[in-house]
Amino acid sequence: MTYTIVTKQDEYSIELAEIMKKKINIPYDEKEPDIVISIGGDGTILKSLHTYADRADDITIFSINTGHLGFITNFTVEEIDKVADMINTGDFTTETVGLIDYEVRTALDTFRGVALNEVTCINPTRTLIVDVSVDSEELELFRGTGLCISSPFGSTGYNKSLHGSVIDPALNCFQLTEIASINSRAYRTLSSPLLLCAGKVITIENNESQDTWVTVDNTSYRLTNFKSLRVGYSNHSVKMAENSIDFIGRLKKAFINN
Ligand code: NAP
Ligand code: MN
Repeated sequence: MTYTIVTKQDEYSIELAEIMKKKINIPYDEKEPDIVISIGGDGTILKSLHTYADRADDITIFSINTGHLGFITNFTVEEIDKVADMINTGDFTTETVGLIDYEVRTALDTFRGVALNEVTCINPTRTLIVDVSVDSEELELFRGTGLCISSPFGSTGYNKSLHGSVIDPALNCFQLTEIASINSRAYRTLSSPLLLCAGKVITIENNESQDTWVTVDNTSYRLTNFKSLRVGYSNHSVKMAENSIDFIGRLKKAFINN
């Protein structure tokens, strides 16, 4: 068993990482760690996942919150001794978190990967015009700012601001939400969040060629020759170390009780 630490780049998180290293007595391994300690906010968990995305199934993320919201983060700074103890003894339980797969095609190349929160397709300046299909069936010709496809885990992130549903992370599904769709006599979209089961695939195809941004969690790609985006529920997942607070408890703490 080996571990590494990924930190938010602020003084406090970096200092805490040094303190943490002194408390842990299993080998430190940045290359192929079994445990990734994320010190920061929810954004640092995204960074942790993407640093080790090709080994997502093999790692366990312990998240310590020094950030703002820290909805996904499981442990507080006061609990660092408890976290060190869990890692040193190997005595901890994990929750398996489902990822989503994406594949982007441009006129020049194809790239693919996994996302923990969401993948979006956006045109912030002009109207994005794309064909949206589910499996081989065309759903709609979408006109608007963009589309967001999120995992259950990401349902409390961008998806929530778009009035998508908050999803129990135990469900194997993914969700499509609209970002400012245009609906008029001329244009029509579903206009509701669409929840799909694992196995289905959403395809978004460029209809009128223009600049498009594809975002994957905390990274964005500006594509001048965007062709299509395909997203589905992944066979890959990542494990997160559990603490005593469950999903509904975290929801209440982050969004209801101040
Ligand atoms: P950020 O600008 O710090 O993130 C925005 C906020 O979302 C932060 O408060 C972050 O928590 C929180 N967050 C991230 N993932 C979450 C999740 N799964 N559930 C609940 N809250 C979550 O940027 P970032 O930290 O790099 O995170 C990137 C994420 O920001 C994206 O994946 C997307 O979900 C979200 N986002 C939201 C909007 C919007 O709501 N309008 C727009 C763009 C992106 P921390 O403060 O703990 O980091
Ligand atoms: Mn953040």
